[in-house]
Amino acid sequence: MEEHYNPEITPRDNQWMEFANCKNKIDIMFPDDYAHRSEIERAKLICRACVVINECKEYSLKMDEIHGIWGGMTPADRRRYRKQQQYNINLSVGKQ
Ligand code: SF4
Repeated sequence: MEEHYNPEITPRDNQWMEFANCKNKIDIMFPDDYAHRSEIERAKLICRACVVINECKEYSLKMDEIHGIWGGMTPADRRRYRKQQQYNINLSVGKQ
């Protein structure tokens, strides 16, 4: 995935949301649990073109969002990401 980063926009104040590529596309970003893969990919494509993808991803992980596509990640992607992060932390402190 192409990385975007704008140091002017921080997740601290949520101003980044003003730059969201998914404005007015909320129905696409929150597909139901049984959505076809093409619907998920459509939402992820919108994220890939978004200038605040990193801020959005960070926000969704911090807020523990359990629904919708945020920062190009589905809820399942976020669960896998958190598990991997925890695994990496455990490895670094010698726990497994
Ligand atoms: S990364 Fe995706 S979900 Fe997040 S603001 Fe951009 S388009 Fe919306």
